[in-house]
Amino acid sequence: MGKTILDLNLDIKKLHSIANSLASDLKKMDIHTVADLLWYFPGRYDDLSNIKLVKDIDENEVNTVCVKITKIKSYRAWRAKMIITELIAEDDSGTVEAIWFRQKFISQILKIGDQVYLSGKIKAKKSSWQFISPSYEKAKADLIHSGRIVPLYHLSGQITQKQLRFLISKALKEITPVDDPLPVEILNKEKYPWLMESLKQIHFPSDQKSLEAASQRLKFQELFYLQIKYQLAKKNYQSQPTYQISLNNHLLNQNIKTLPFKLTLDQQKALYDVLADLNKDIPMNRLIEGDVGSGKTIVAILSALNVLSHGLQVALMAPTEILANQHLATIKKILPAKYLPQIALLTKSHQLLADGTNTNKTELIKKIASGSINFVVGTHSLIQDKINFKKLGLIIIDEQHRFGVRQRKTLKEKNKDHKAPHLLSMTATPIPRTLALTLYGDLDISLIKEKPAGRKKIKTFLVPEKKRLDAYNFIREKIQNKEQVFVICPLIDDSDKLGVRSVTAEYQKLNKDIFPDLEIRLLHGKLKSDAKEKIMSDFKNNQFPILVATSVIEVGVDIPQATIMIIESAERFGLSQLHQFRGRIGRNALDSFCLLFTNDISSVSKKRLEALCTTSDGFKLADLDLELRGSGEIFGHKQSGLIKLKIAKLSETALIKKAQKWAQDILTDQKYLARHDLQATIAKLKNETHLE
Ligand code: ADP
Ligand code: MG
Repeated sequence: MGKTILDLNLDIKKLHSIANSLASDLKKMDIHTVADLLWYFPGRYDDLSNIKLVKDIDENEVNTVCVKITKIKSYRAWRAKMIITELIAEDDSGTVEAIWFRQKFISQILKIGDQVYLSGKIKAKKSSWQFISPSYEKAKADLIHSGRIVPLYHLSGQITQKQLRFLISKALKEITPVDDPLPVEILNKEKYPWLMESLKQIHFPSDQKSLEAASQRLKFQELFYLQIKYQLAKKNYQSQPTYQISLNNHLLNQNIKTLPFKLTLDQQKALYDVLADLNKDIPMNRLIEGDVGSGKTIVAILSALNVLSHGLQVALMAPTEILANQHLATIKKILPAKYLPQIALLTKSHQLLADGTNTNKTELIKKIASGSINFVVGTHSLIQDKINFKKLGLIIIDEQHRFGVRQRKTLKEKNKDHKAPHLLSMTATPIPRTLALTLYGDLDISLIKEKPAGRKKIKTFLVPEKKRLDAYNFIREKIQNKEQVFVICPLIDDSDKLGVRSVTAEYQKLNKDIFPDLEIRLLHGKLKSDAKEKIMSDFKNNQFPILVATSVIEVGVDIPQATIMIIESAERFGLSQLHQFRGRIGRNALDSFCLLFTNDISSVSKKRLEALCTTSDGFKLADLDLELRGSGEIFGHKQSGLIKLKIAKLSETALIKKAQKWAQDILTDQKYLARHDLQATIAKLKNETHLE
């Protein structure tokens, strides 16, 4: 092979014949280029740096010695039919032995007279020590497998630690040094090592301190790039022309006065944030984050009113028909009657005007295009090809995590007025502040933390199995009182993706043995959406008392008479998810109860579930989840893949803030922006940006 120029983009197969033959394993590890290889960081390290004299070997520790080989032989053990290799070696202080099984190459690699490092567990023999299958490496200037802090990687397929270390070390040694992509000001100020040095140290640290410094730098770089991307996306979005919509103070105040309740302080603040954004000539991109039942909808509707009063259009998109219907009902109650003729519902199965008159899709689409319908409430149907808006001022997306980036984008592009609509998203997933910065760095966020006054706490209990029958008796009493019950079951296993088996088993048990006289219905992922909606709306209208469901049950739906929720195998759910489930009860003046069952008595599970019993603050629970189980839990599995970090953790608050601050400085200061190196980095990141 001719000499290859080793740069970061080099195809990994060209690095070395070993890489070529292991290409498919490397691919599984997402390693395609030299850069991927160098950014494949160790999962942990073995500290084998403490090299001992033979006389100081301690039977209770992992020992590393540097010895000279005096004897080595391999033979086939006749009974075990395997190759055994034995070695004797010495340093100035004494002699050691070593033994390996089934490693026929060792005696070809190690020869008498070689100086070699041995690391591993030791066994006392009659007159000396014996290493059992130690790791070994010939002594040379740069050790990679022993006699140092040794990296250990997550592996796939056939590839071994030694092979991967060899490839990484080769790449590190031969790569053409690249300029450090971080501005030198950051490196100096934060005292970060250079990129090349950091990469060397993260794989083959000279000591713990250098490892820590390298790790900090690489984490920072990852978070910094992410923040730059967010801020670029934000700038990009904000550079579009939009409608500047002034505050119709009188109208809003009039309307707020007629509400059957007083807005909470957090609702007022969120509303103010939105109205202030609308009043700017840059498009809003704001997320209202508020616990289940915190009253986000009213904030959205009042914002919509302000937009409607200027003759502009509003689209409200919800993830299901039942939610869209619910929103329409709320809107009809809240908005001044004179707006009703401009309001319509558009879903797959319903097209109607707010005054109740039926219409059809074609007619509705025409009215939206001509601007005679100004407020459309709907589902995914709103992003159909045919729909266009005349002058869309505001898009509201409820339960935004249920929609993909592309769906949100499609809706934005439906405005035919060449202006970017303002965008208001809502979510009930309480995300810790720093996590929000990392996940939604391109959005502005309003928090609604406070619950409306008079809302009762949902009494939550971890019920021991022996009290199960008592719990069922309790439920029976409540049902006699016309109250309703949710029973939530987790998926049994991976093969039960839609939860059909788990809920069916629970349903049969309840139906046959516990409540044979009551009507119980089943809700799971396999049902068609029409069937799901029918069950939910029947339940909402209290046509049957018990609903057994998987986690597909709808977020945000008001079921006033539901006061009890049973959650089976509760330990399987994230705390935030459990908290959202239970937010579906407790929506009226009656006492509500959430009863948790679990088969897992481990202390972590108990701690988590007890936290759910004692706290009703979704943000606190999210923080705790993050601490105990990592970020994936907060979103459930589907969304945990939202961003993939190689080294930084979403819980690293201080570092995330630091990265955000630097990204802001770099992108706003001409001193930085004029520089070629930074321009290149920024241009590259811009290309990778696929946000809002
Ligand atoms: P979410 O934030 O989960 O979407 P909703 O907007 O659906 O919550 O509100 C839940 C319920 O609380 C609704 O019935 C709504 O009318 C009521 N609500 C909203 N704000 C207040 C308030 N300030 N005081 C009393 N009830 C309120
Ligand atoms: Mg809601």
